[in-house]
Amino acid sequence: MARLSIWETPRGRVELPNMAVVVNPNLISVPTNEIREMGFQLIMTNSYILRRRGFSGDVHNLLEHNGPVYTDSGAYQLFSRGIEDQDSIEIVRYQLEINSDVITPFDLLVMPWDSEEEAMRKAIETVERVKEAIPLVREKGKLIVAPIQGGRHPKVRRKCARELGKLRADVYAIGVVVPDLLEYNFKEVVDAIAISKEEIPLSRPCHLFGAGHPMVLPLYVALGCDLFDSAMYAIAARDGRYLTHSGSLRLDEMEEFPCNCPVCYNKSPGEVSGWSKRKREYFISKHNLYSVLLELKRIREAIRRNRLLDLVLERANAHPMLKEATLYSLKRLSVLMEELDPLEKKSGLRHIGPETSLRPEVRRARRLIRRIRSTKSRIYVDPFGPVPIEILKVYPFGQFVSPRETPRLEVDPNSLFRALMEYLYDVRIRERFEFTFSKEGRIKDVILNGERIGSIRAKDHFFVPNIRGARLILEKSEYPRNRVIIKKEAEDFVSRGKSVFCKFVLDLDSELRPMQYVPVVNEEDELIAVGKLILSPREVFDFERHVAVRVKRG
Ligand SMILES: [Zn+2]
Repeated sequence: MARLSIWETPRGRVELPNMAVVVNPNLISVPTNEIREMGFQLIMTNSYILRRRGFSGDVHNLLEHNGPVYTDSGAYQLFSRGIEDQDSIEIVRYQLEINSDVITPFDLLVMPWDSEEEAMRKAIETVERVKEAIPLVREKGKLIVAPIQGGRHPKVRRKCARELGKLRADVYAIGVVVPDLLEYNFKEVVDAIAISKEEIPLSRPCHLFGAGHPMVLPLYVALGCDLFDSAMYAIAARDGRYLTHSGSLRLDEMEEFPCNCPVCYNKSPGEVSGWSKRKREYFISKHNLYSVLLELKRIREAIRRNRLLDLVLERANAHPMLKEATLYSLKRLSVLMEELDPLEKKSGLRHIGPETSLRPEVRRARRLIRRIRSTKSRIYVDPFGPVPIEILKVYPFGQFVSPRETPRLEVDPNSLFRALMEYLYDVRIRERFEFTFSKEGRIKDVILNGERIGSIRAKDHFFVPNIRGARLILEKSEYPRNRVIIKKEAEDFVSRGKSVFCKFVLDLDSELRPMQYVPVVNEEDELIAVGKLILSPREVFDFERHVAVRVKRG
C-alpha cells in the first residue's frame, strides 16, 4: 500500500511520503530557511494562531517560505481553550486571504468521551463544511483538505470517510484521538487508517494528522499514509527529548549521541546540557528534524526496492506496543494490502520469523497455489504450505531467503508452464509447447505451433506473454476474467502501442494485480494489445490521468 508519488501543490511539487514541518510563528525553534535547507518542502502552520494575533498579508512572507504552506483550521487549539466551534466559512476565507496553499475547513473534533450519536452529528457536520468550502477553495486554485473524524467509533468514521470520499477533495486527513497517538495506543490509529483507506479515493494523498515520531513512520506509510505533520520535533525538544527511529532518549541520560547528523556529529550531550535553554532547544529540534528526515529517506528508498515491510518489521521491535500494532495491522489490512501489492518484486522475500506469514506476498502465494490442479506432487515449504513441485523456481518460492533452503527439483518444461498458467491466470492448458533454452539450461521462449507466444522471465520465472500469448490466455478464460476492457475512443491509440490511461478503462478483472501482464480488449472482447497492469483494479477506478496498462510492443 505504500507508494511513492509526486503531489502537485500551487507552489511546487512535494515528493511523498513526506512530513509537513509545523512552525508556530510565535515560537520559532528552527528558522524556516534552515528547515528548507535540510530538505523539507512543506511548512504547516496554524491559522488560528495567525488570526488571533491579527495577522493579515501573505503567510509565505511571514514564514519566509516560498514553497507550499498548509494551514490547519486550529480546531485543536481552540478546543484546548474551551472553544468548540467557529464559523467554518470564515476560517476558510481567512486561510485564503493569507494565501495559504492547502486549506482546512473547521472540523468538529470527536472526543474520546463523545457518544456515538454525538460523534455522528459532528462527523456529518464536518462533511457539510468540506462540501461548502470546496467551491471557494477551488475558485482560488488552492487545495482543500477533507478531515476524517470518528474518534473511537468505527461506524462514524466509515460514514464520514465514505461521504467525504464522494466529494473528491484534494487531500484526505485522518484525525485521530490525540491521546491515541501520544500514548502508544497504536491499535486505535491503525483502525482509523484502515477504515479511511477502505473508503477514500486512493488517488489522493492521505495525511495522518499529528503523527511525527520517526519510529512510527514506516508502519503508517506501509498502511498507505503519504503525509504526516508534526510539531513534535519542537515540543519534544522543549522537554529535552531526543527522537530516534527506535524511540526517544533524554538528553540528561545520554553520554554519547547515537547520531551523525550535521548538528550532532561533533557534540556531546554533556556539552549541550551546559548551553542556554534556547540554544539547547534549537539543537535538539534540529536533530529531531534530521532524524525524521533520515527515516523518510530510508522509507522512500525501501519502497523503491520493495523492501518497506522489512523495515516495518525491523522497527516493530522498538516497542512492544508497536510490535503488537504491526502484527495487528498486517491482519487488519490484509485484504487491501494484498490487492495493492505488486505481483512483481525487485528482490527475494526474506523469511525472518513467524510474522513473515502475515505478509501480503505470502498470503497471496498461499491463495494462488490452491489454483494449481495439474501438479503431480507438492512439498511443504514454510510459511507457504504445500507448494506444487512444478513452480518451486517461481517467485516467491524460488526467490526466498530463508534459513532452510527451498528444494529445487527438475521438472519438465511443459509441466512447469501448465502449473505457471494456473498460478498466474487460473487457466487450464492442455496443448504441448516447445521451448528454447539459455546456455545455462533455463527456459527462455515458449513456442506453440511453431510460433513464439512469450517468454519465461529469468528473475522470477513469470510468463511474459506477447500478443499470441495474450490470445491464448483470453481463449482459456471466461469474460471478464484476465482482461482489461477499454473504451472505444482509446482503441486506435492503444492498438498503436500507446499506454492505456485509467479514464479509458471500462472494466477489468478484480483478481488482477499490479505489475501483472494482461490482455487488453475492446468492448466487443476483441484483443487489442497486451501490457503490464501498473495499478491495482481499485486504483484504476480512483485515478484518472495515471497509466493503467503499459502496453508491450512486439
Ligand atoms: Zn543528530
